[in-house]
Amino acid sequence: MYLVDTHNHLGCALFDIDRSQILAQSIKQGVVRQIMIGVFAAEWYPLLQLADKHAALYMACGIHPMYISDANQLSSALNLLKQLFQQRLDDQKLCAFGEIGLDYYIANVDKELQLKVFNNQLELATFAHRPVLLHVRRAHADVIATLKDHQFKYRGIVHAFSGSYEEAKEYIKLGFKIGLGGAGTYPQARRMHKILKQLPLEAIVLETDAPDLSPVSRQGQRNSPEYLPEICQQLAQIKGISTEQLAYHSSKNACDLFNWSFNELTNS
Ligand SMILES: [Zn+2]
Repeated sequence: MYLVDTHNHLGCALFDIDRSQILAQSIKQGVVRQIMIGVFAAEWYPLLQLADKHAALYMACGIHPMYISDANQLSSALNLLKQLFQQRLDDQKLCAFGEIGLDYYIANVDKELQLKVFNNQLELATFAHRPVLLHVRRAHADVIATLKDHQFKYRGIVHAFSGSYEEAKEYIKLGFKIGLGGAGTYPQARRMHKILKQLPLEAIVLETDAPDLSPVSRQGQRNSPEYLPEICQQLAQIKGISTEQLAYHSSKNACDLFNWSFNELTNS
């Protein structure tokens, strides 16, 4: 079984003590590729260095809607982001923008500023020809409208998808994949189970979002890319297909999105 963790935060300090063991253990379990997400400027260079060192690691960077700081910091972060992609325009290791998007769930939300930063980063992604990894909470209508306004064609993933089936269909029409992980493994997540059963296999990619969103079998613990096989097994069971089928399709979908060779992935 070959799996791709399309979204985690392996660079985060919670993994400082055992990052290399986790990486080795994940590969042993079949998690042959991981995309680490850098959500603010200080994370970007260290993560890129980490990705450069390990064949299994890739990275995405972007300004997360929950980490939008004051105007000065923001404009320097946007400049840095542009520089980073300019320097690495043909470098596959820097494989996407993310996570970016809109979060209307947080308190004292500044929708206008979030929209501005999201628009800026969609322009950068268009310039860099990269897909985007979306973080969306209570804002699907605005995100879908913004993607349509940009006629954004480099596709991406709606990470930790929590919207409706209708919204999922809208994203799929725009070429996006639906990112699923630990949240769907909880027995009480009935709405998510219903959506999972309806989603076409061609639209699903898997993720852990480690250290967050642990599966039910690891509730309360630090999440880890090592747990992706059990997440895959549990989601496949809910969808009524085999673990191998879900592993195969979700990995193939990730390869399709990031222009990776599936043969190379399964020989790694
Ligand atoms: Zn995340």
